[in-house]
Amino acid sequence: MFPAFAILAFPLLQGDPVDRILAAALGSGKAYATLRDLCQVAPHRLSGSEGAERAVLWAKEAMASAGLESVRLEPCSVPKWERGKVASLEVIAPAESRATWLPVLALGGSVATPSSGIEAGVIEVTSFEDLAAKGEGARGKIVFFDRPMDPKVLDPFEAYGGAVDQRGRGAVEAAKHGGVAAIVRSMSLAVDDVPHTGAMHYEDGTQRVPTAAVSTAGAERLSALLRAKPDLRLRLRLDCADRGEVPSSNVVGEIRGGKLADEIVLVGAHLDGWDVGQGAHDDGSGCAEVLEAMRLLRALDLRPARTLRAVLFMNEENGTRGARAYREAHRDEVARHVLAIETDRGGFAPRGFSTDAAGDALAALRAIAARLEPAGASQLRAGGGGADVSVLQQDRVPLMELLAEPSRYFDVHHSERDTLDAVHPRELELGAAALAVMAFEAADAGPELSRQTPR
Ligand SMILES: [Zn+2]
Repeated sequence: MFPAFAILAFPLLQGDPVDRILAAALGSGKAYATLRDLCQVAPHRLSGSEGAERAVLWAKEAMASAGLESVRLEPCSVPKWERGKVASLEVIAPAESRATWLPVLALGGSVATPSSGIEAGVIEVTSFEDLAAKGEGARGKIVFFDRPMDPKVLDPFEAYGGAVDQRGRGAVEAAKHGGVAAIVRSMSLAVDDVPHTGAMHYEDGTQRVPTAAVSTAGAERLSALLRAKPDLRLRLRLDCADRGEVPSSNVVGEIRGGKLADEIVLVGAHLDGWDVGQGAHDDGSGCAEVLEAMRLLRALDLRPARTLRAVLFMNEENGTRGARAYREAHRDEVARHVLAIETDRGGFAPRGFSTDAAGDALAALRAIAARLEPAGASQLRAGGGGADVSVLQQDRVPLMELLAEPSRYFDVHHSERDTLDAVHPRELELGAAALAVMAFEAADAGPELSRQTPR
């Protein structure tokens, strides 16, 4: 007979996996230590940078020391863009307004201005339709896109989605209407003087004009000033540069499954981040959650039926090249991916998951999420995954994303404020625990999660 004192002495070796995961996650303090490590080793890890390559080596080592199997780098080619040292937006005229403070950050991918800057009048617009309606009004001007994220929208991610076209496509639209540069109000619900960068893109056949984000408070000052002084002139200076393409890697490690080892549950986050702040929430937290979830399962000796594969993707922020390389490299087994879970919504307290799974699989996932009710993370809403796993949507891989409390995410997102101290250890370890529970239970679930027939 197994003596009772042995059970008491080794509680982590006994009982329900969900209880064991939660207890081990909350007791270890490891999720935050992992994030601290990453933020120290590679605070700036934009694709193509030295920091990104340091992060790759760090992640490989972290996976190995967490006890993962088949740890490896998988190659991808990424863009290399450098911010440079100069970013300024100054009021040139009228003279009495020259002290107006307009903090800016170049948007990722922007071309530089001439070293003397671009000096021009300004036209403020709230949308591409508004810009088109102003006809020739933008010709020769700096186009100022100033539609805020809508605070009336309940989900800040939806509000972001409703405003971010200005950042992604503002430069193209400005150029099409004869504009010489584009200034975009930062994507944040907070009104402050911290500008937020992010990806933008150009279009072949359209003039490439420089583009930058101005802080939300700066945008409000500029807007007020323009109403009083419509003939205002600004000078924009940026010295960023496109350095072509360089090789990089996704970092992959596994817990090989038992009975159904050929079937895969993917758990992913992105290793790259912007070159401001430390990418602590975006997506250092996601990386820490993935690493901690996998470490917990190994430490508890929990081996699910299916293979659990951790993937830390490169280049989510400005190209999703890592995600696309993953899909190419795993074409032959993509149909055996039964679920792809991503965590890229910050290291705030977990609330649950979104998924596009349907039918019996959805019911099974809902039952797993319900186990996280005591942790406050039992939501299961219709939705998809994040940008990386969404590449697998075309192969009909069911997608899922970890949902976190979203109210403060965009205050820090892509800005100097996205630092370790903005992440709370307790919230982060709860996120890791929720991810570990979902990943393990989905990988260990019955045939309702297997993809019997192509969906
Ligand atoms: Zn992200």
